Amino acid sequence: MSNNTVRTRFAPSPTGYMHIGNLRTALYSYLIARANQGKFIVRIEDTDQERLVDGAVDVILKTLKDTGLDYDEGPVVGGDFGPYIQSERKDIYKKYAQELVDKGHAYYCFCSKERLDSLHKEGEIGAGYDRHCRDLSKEEVEKNLADGKSYVIRQKMPLEGVTGYDDAIFGHIETENSELQDQILMKADGFPTYNFCHVVDDHLMGITHVVRGSEYLTSTPKYALLYDAFGWERPVYCHLPLIMGKNEDGSVSKLAKRHGAVSFQDLLKNGYLPEAIVNYLAFLGWCPKDTTEEFFTLEELKKIFSIDGISKAPAVFDYEKLAWFNSHYIKELPLDKFMEMAKPYYNEELKAFADDERLAAMVQTRISTLPEVNEKAAFAAGLPEFDSQLYVNKKNKTNADMAKSVLTAVIPVLENAEQWDNDLLFALLKDFAADQELKAGAVMWIVRIAVSGMAVTPGGATELMTVLGRDEAVARLKTSLSRL
Ligand code: GLU
Repeated sequence: MSNNTVRTRFAPSPTGYMHIGNLRTALYSYLIARANQGKFIVRIEDTDQERLVDGAVDVILKTLKDTGLDYDEGPVVGGDFGPYIQSERKDIYKKYAQELVDKGHAYYCFCSKERLDSLHKEGEIGAGYDRHCRDLSKEEVEKNLADGKSYVIRQKMPLEGVTGYDDAIFGHIETENSELQDQILMKADGFPTYNFCHVVDDHLMGITHVVRGSEYLTSTPKYALLYDAFGWERPVYCHLPLIMGKNEDGSVSKLAKRHGAVSFQDLLKNGYLPEAIVNYLAFLGWCPKDTTEEFFTLEELKKIFSIDGISKAPAVFDYEKLAWFNSHYIKELPLDKFMEMAKPYYNEELKAFADDERLAAMVQTRISTLPEVNEKAAFAAGLPEFDSQLYVNKKNKTNADMAKSVLTAVIPVLENAEQWDNDLLFALLKDFAADQELKAGAVMWIVRIAVSGMAVTPGGATELMTVLGRDEAVARLKTSLSRL
């Protein structure tokens, strides 16, 4: 490993879904590595055995694959610093915890659960551990161990002074050492805590930049002290701004389910494309220099991403903005790919139309999420009963009476159209309007309503008729006329 290679990591706990915030962390960590010709590492943090979820690692790896975040080292692909799953590294943590004990920076604690519980009850909330075992003699420790007493290993925090570090995004952060708890490093079950093992792993895996959510901002002095205790070089810390959601009253609070989908999987279900999600997330807390351009593919982001474009201000998740990105990426899809992706979203009524290329092409440019295919394609399913008031249009001065005479005259013209394509139908209706001394807009309005029975349609009269085909369109016009 060359000394100046940037190495970043994404270190998720396997929870069973990928929160948007975690995905943004993965993305930024990935982009920092790629923009610096560095390495991106994935490490699974599964030492909290009570919270394990079956299949959760697959969800993480699948998300990375779907979003294009390829990693150089990690589960499945391996690497020189593995294993990359913490539960497979237990012996490593044991050894390093013992090293800290030997150096006087950690200690064995034999306090029973009952004693700790009573401390919580007696002390003020948050009073924490009273350091009861901090100064046990070597003999006492050895006797307890020989007696097979259950123990944890705690970090011996300095009692005076301050510990600080420079965060690349939030600037200088420091804490009074007297406020630091003697936190647990190794639990009674032999597993390390996150607080300990992520530091050991980040060091052993040569991580140069720790990129993660700002919830770790204030605990990081404790981690910095661990680096110091081992005599290891601290990494660069990049804590990312919080992601907020907009509340109905206009205020903001931490993004939660009530704001909308909060996992990558739910966003996919709601019809957002991975490319759009990635592009949007890139801008959720970062912006490029010297450009107002907002559409960037992952390949482009890899070239221009930089830490100094990351903001510390909380970012507000805006579903409308995401939809705007999404409509762009939907339009960019080749038609066949769009049809394949849209297919599962069609409802029962419209399933039969999912393979209709002309309908798909019309719908593709007019939706911002995939489930909207149903709203846009609804006209294809059949002619609904509708109120003849729909024929009334002030601008074109149309109404139901006029519709009756226009439809009576125009149906034979359409029935005999030489060809059934949009341009020709358009020219036919225009000429027809001129012949009848009517505004073209009036004729188009009437035909569009008569053929769809809907006030709002994804296209004009001739586009709808082209999609429906001659027989269906003419039959609908006749039905509508008969209802007048
Ligand atoms: N496993 C931690 C989490 O999922 C990772 C935090 C870190 O990146 O250090 O929140």
